[in-house]
Amino acid sequence: DETLSALPQTGEREVETTLRPRKLDEFVGQPRVREQLQLVLESARRRGVPPDHVLLSGPPGLGKTSLAMIVAAELDATIRITSGPALERAGDLAAMLSNLAEGDVLFIDEIHRIARPAEEMLYLAMEDFRVDVVVGKGPGATSIPLEIAPFTLVGATTRSGALTGPLRDRFGFTGQMEFYSDDELDLVVRRAAAILGIEIDAEGCVEIAGRSRGTPRIANRLLRRVRDYAEVRADGTVDREIARAALAVYDVDELGLDRLDRAVLTALCRSFGGGPVGVTTLAVAVGEEPGTVEEVCEPYLVRAGMLARTPRGRVATPSAWEHLGLTAPAGYGS
Ligand code: ATP
Repeated sequence: DETLSALPQTGEREVETTLRPRKLDEFVGQPRVREQLQLVLESARRRGVPPDHVLLSGPPGLGKTSLAMIVAAELDATIRITSGPALERAGDLAAMLSNLAEGDVLFIDEIHRIARPAEEMLYLAMEDFRVDVVVGKGPGATSIPLEIAPFTLVGATTRSGALTGPLRDRFGFTGQMEFYSDDELDLVVRRAAAILGIEIDAEGCVEIAGRSRGTPRIANRLLRRVRDYAEVRADGTVDREIARAALAVYDVDELGLDRLDRAVLTALCRSFGGGPVGVTTLAVAVGEEPGTVEEVCEPYLVRAGMLARTPRGRVATPSAWEHLGLTAPAGYGS
């Protein structure tokens, strides 16, 4: 049951690694973040010091992990990778930090999910390159300061709002990743097709780019599914017709909305009269985690002008009703 969600699926990881841009100038799109990051890195390089800590924020699949690896590559540094949920105990983080060599890049994905004690340890590490390791328990407990090598932290988050103030303040630079334009995704598709040896014409690229929800990871995945279709049902070459037929099989509509996106909109219109309804109630209605609805579906639905987040809850816009082929109640939205 292929749902083409924004989350990576097992078995495709390897291909994703092959498709990852390695250098800043190979990285398509995000001109603002790229320019800002280039300045941060170049100036640090000239001064011969590790750059400020970097926070990358934005919906899944926009290239945060790729950028973190690029930061390390541009600095000729080694990257160590972990994630917020893996740092449950402060000791896990202490071990990771004390193993860093000077100039290393530490990448923490989903940094908003880091446990509190680890987060507090991170403050000191980011600011003073030091950790306090607590030895013993109760009144006899002592705290031993431990020097760590100067490093650069790159944090990635889909919810920068969920980060505590003190943690956010310790990042010298925050890159806000935006959804990609269709033209940028067109370049992503062309690049991936060239790397994977897929024959595709210009119109085939445009068709896939336009249905990728502004997200390179989805563009790459749709390209692979269209390739499958072209190989099995045709001669392997992708053009507009093949792309359209393949994407119809995989339930990706003209706007790129997948099954979960449409389920959310349909529940909102059919079960809740278009809202307002709270995200938790909406998530239960489609059998998903509220976090997934909030971080994976909603950002794109908002950008596509289908859904509005209001203080009273989520509301379907008139375009959502129209897109689903439903009739909004009389006076809706007025
Ligand atoms: P998550 O936070 O869910 O891990 P992410 O934002 O870190 O997602 P990446 O894993 O970096 O996303 O990127 C997903 C895939 O999209 C990569 O394998 C890469 O092939 C492709 N990709 C991302 N950004 C770009 C880009 N700017 N140019 C070309 N390909 C890209």
